[in-house]
Amino acid sequence: MSNPLEMQQVVRTYRGPAGALPVLRGVDLTLEAGQIVALVAPSGAGKSTLLHLAGLLEKPDGGQVRVAGRDAGALGDRERTAIRRDSIGFVYQFHHLLPEFSALENVVLPQMIAGMSRRAAAERAMGLLDVFGLRPRAGHAPGKLSGGEQQRVAIARALANAPGLLLADEPTGNLDAGTAALVFDELLRIVRAQGVAALIATHNPELAARMDRTVTLRDGRLLAG
Ligand code: ADP
Repeated sequence: MSNPLEMQQVVRTYRGPAGALPVLRGVDLTLEAGQIVALVAPSGAGKSTLLHLAGLLEKPDGGQVRVAGRDAGALGDRERTAIRRDSIGFVYQFHHLLPEFSALENVVLPQMIAGMSRRAAAERAMGLLDVFGLRPRAGHAPGKLSGGEQQRVAIARALANAPGLLLADEPTGNLDAGTAALVFDELLRIVRAQGVAALIATHNPELAARMDRTVTLRDGRLLAG
């Protein structure tokens, strides 16, 4: 079986009026199925850039990104979009839920876009919300939920299409410490239960220590530990 994510010698340089800013200078990273990896680095080091490249939201200036065995550099926009939809789940620091839809609908929609029937999608969505104890909140709009609940729904949405790879950018960074710890526990539990590989950016060493391994971004390269 192919690995959910392989990055080889990935280079990314931003170019602006102030000149060239090399952010990634040759990143190598492999995530095997079910592996949970902490991506640790100070703010501005390039964590979001790396996650955007891994998630096929941006293209590298050099090197190779393979998701589920497919070389993204060889694919057109339509195929990249299909891989994003079917094989990758995203969680951001802010939940980015659609405010006019209920929690349930937010988890149903990505599945229907992927071709699932409404009934099957609703069943899976309710199952995912149930893992987070959110069944009683399923009909509520995001604005009626607490910050922790909103982020739980965002995690359920990211897992809606049973992706092999979850990419998370400071997923509990916007929550108070107590809520963050609880939501993070649940995130790890569901990711392990579903056998999803995850790359989770954090600058919290305690959270990083609970993952399978840590990679650190320094001077545009990834170091183990
Ligand atoms: P992190 O997620 O670790 O905080 P980022 O990947 O967001 O780091 O940013 C890395 C560096 O690249 C920063 O100096 C940031 O200002 C710069 N950067 C990020 N995105 C862009 C962009 N679209 N254009 C120009 N510079 C960018």
